[in-house]
Amino acid sequence: MGKRIVVKLGTSVLTGGTRTLDSAHMVELTRQCAELFHAGHDIVVCTSGAVAAGRAQLGFPDLPPTIVSKQVLAAVGQPRLMLQWSRFFEIYGIRIGQVLLTRADVENRQRYLNARDALTALLEQRIIPVVNENDAIATEEIKVGDNDTLSALVATLVSADLLLILTDQPGLFTADPRTNPDAQLIPEVHRIDAALRAQAGGSVSGLGVGGMVTKLNAANIARHAGIDVIIAAGKAPNVILRAAAGEAVGTRFVALESRPESRKRWILAGPKPAGRLLIDEGAVRAICERGRSLLPAGIRAVEGRFERGDTVTILDLERRELARGLTAYNSTDLARIAGAHSHEIAERLGYTYGDEAIHRNNLVILAD
Ligand code: GLU
Repeated sequence: MGKRIVVKLGTSVLTGGTRTLDSAHMVELTRQCAELFHAGHDIVVCTSGAVAAGRAQLGFPDLPPTIVSKQVLAAVGQPRLMLQWSRFFEIYGIRIGQVLLTRADVENRQRYLNARDALTALLEQRIIPVVNENDAIATEEIKVGDNDTLSALVATLVSADLLLILTDQPGLFTADPRTNPDAQLIPEVHRIDAALRAQAGGSVSGLGVGGMVTKLNAANIARHAGIDVIIAAGKAPNVILRAAAGEAVGTRFVALESRPESRKRWILAGPKPAGRLLIDEGAVRAICERGRSLLPAGIRAVEGRFERGDTVTILDLERRELARGLTAYNSTDLARIAGAHSHEIAERLGYTYGDEAIHRNNLVILAD
């Protein structure tokens, strides 16, 4: 049976580190996607490069590093980018469809489901969705911000089997390979923890937005949504074909076994968390080990402003992210009942939405 594969192509891959799109390499990547497509796999391409294409198209103008400049460059570059993709896929007789998303398009569950339906409909029609962030209208508040996170979101939306993040590095190393000759490629990762994040460091590639840490965060979302992730070099020969065939290429992040239900996948990948809850050790054990709800008693601090029903992130006292969930109380009221027993809620607030700050059905664990 065909697999569903999201191929994320970063700016550094599409430009080969130069200032313009590398058409020859784009054709080569297209060839590999086409081969998989014709073998019966579903392919979704998550492409960067709009801003880079716009910059080249406008003759490398000297613009201030503002959101508006980026919007202008993306508005000019996105159609150029799509023109290239549609020409290249046409060589192989494949039709593509453009899908431009921002965070706002998946923020509430209904819009998330609409985006999912659109992508699924394209796949059912045997059309390859080519997805990018809608940078021409994206502002700080509504954007996803980087295409690594966007690709994890897209992989979650289409319930992919594999997310392949192609970049200018062969994968994740034990140290920075550019400065440390002893750095070793890590072939397989089963757990993304603080130590691994520290190892990944803040490596940033030239033209793209996300460094290795951004990629790890994206990988963590995807693998908790039940999706295998591979980070590999876009230049490696036949990298897409080899990754799809299960060969050892780059760094593979193994999916957690169970695929959470659709609503939990949305909590994981859809809304940007509006606030943070710091919880004590007892609550960590209750939610992570025993699958319980989060009660107000275990909450030590409430940060940010949010409404009932918003997504919040749950941190331990060392500020490690453990889970995300939909809060039953707004930030003001949650701060008033933090540390209190559930039977005190009505007394303190004059009303109650129930004993739980976050019910287990609205809670997704991110820690391993
Ligand atoms: N969406 C941006 C673009 O097309 C790229 C963002 C990223 O590379 O993470 O230029």
